Amino acid sequence: MSTTNNRYAEPLSVLEVHLDAVARNYLFFQKQMKKGADCAAVVKADAYGLGAVSVSRALFEQNCRHFFVATFDEAVQVQQALPAEALIYILNGPSGASAEDFAENRFIPVLNTLGEIGYWNDFSRRRGKKQPCLIHMDTGMNRLGLAPEDVARTKESFSALDVRYVMSHLACADEPNHPKNQEQLRLFKKLSGELAGAFRYSFANSAGILLGADFHFDLARPGCGLYGINPSIHQPNLLQGVVTLKARILQIRMIDSPATVGYGAHYRVSSPVKCATVSAGYADGYLRSLTDHGSVFIGGEKCPVIGRVSMDSIVVDVTAVKQTLAEGDWAEIIGPHRLVDGVAKEAGTIGYEILTSLGRRYKRVYT
Ligand SMILES: *Cc1c(COP(=O)(O)O)cnc(C)c1O
Repeated sequence: MSTTNNRYAEPLSVLEVHLDAVARNYLFFQKQMKKGADCAAVVKADAYGLGAVSVSRALFEQNCRHFFVATFDEAVQVQQALPAEALIYILNGPSGASAEDFAENRFIPVLNTLGEIGYWNDFSRRRGKKQPCLIHMDTGMNRLGLAPEDVARTKESFSALDVRYVMSHLACADEPNHPKNQEQLRLFKKLSGELAGAFRYSFANSAGILLGADFHFDLARPGCGLYGINPSIHQPNLLQGVVTLKARILQIRMIDSPATVGYGAHYRVSSPVKCATVSAGYADGYLRSLTDHGSVFIGGEKCPVIGRVSMDSIVVDVTAVKQTLAEGDWAEIIGPHRLVDGVAKEAGTIGYEILTSLGRRYKRVYT
């Protein structure tokens, strides 16, 4: 056999990240923003698994200048990808490195607790200069941020800090009619009113931007929508898919007599089926909960997963596929036929978890 054009030498799975679609999604959000308000980008968790370096560069090219990550190490990675004007905020606070390292790198921590505010005040005093930060007030999510009574108790000390924004985070913005959205907005405005000094404010995530101008304040922080996840669960997706994930068929087999497929002899075949084994498994983020629920697209046809999801492969029923199939052909796992949210629904989870689980094994291509 010839070794040129040898399909055996080609990658078994390819994850394409469409940076042009990420850019369009960013511009979409920017266009929604009320006049004078800025749009940041949340690129935590390696840009939701898609690659923080490439994604951040693409967003910088669209004039994004505010980047949110979760940790110090993520900030280092993003900073190395970007020109010096980029501002990098760290959601999980001034932890994971010394305050000096934060200052040296010009990283801006979000201060979530009284302890962190005290720590940043001490550091500012030591340096003889107000140190930049964001202050996070909790308005009902009860995850991170100062409780309302703590805001009242510590607001005097904010003047010793270089507070770039005072922020909060919405718990239910993906459900536009949820009463919690208005409750959180009211509390955010009330607390903002109690703060002396002309602070700037940041409130909305992706879904919050779609709730309208009341939620925009001075800086929005979209994440999921940039990556094609629908921010709003009851509405059609206004954002574009940014991922195509395809994996090759490793083997094709006809099963003509009663048999079982996969681990645990879990799936029983009674009538004849044609099956294809596809090169992606739970080690690639094709979650094991997709057993009995997942499907891929081959030749434009929906092919259900049969048998349990294995570490490195799945078996799918390709009986319905009309075109002639060969080993080495592609199965679409995420793409135009099957958006991230569709896979998430089948897996009983959310698009965020599908993207951040994608793993390191795919050949990654940025377009
Ligand atoms: C993750 C996160 C965001 C982005 O939320 P999306 O729903 O992905 O748009 C914004 N703000 C905070 C505080 C976050 O933790």
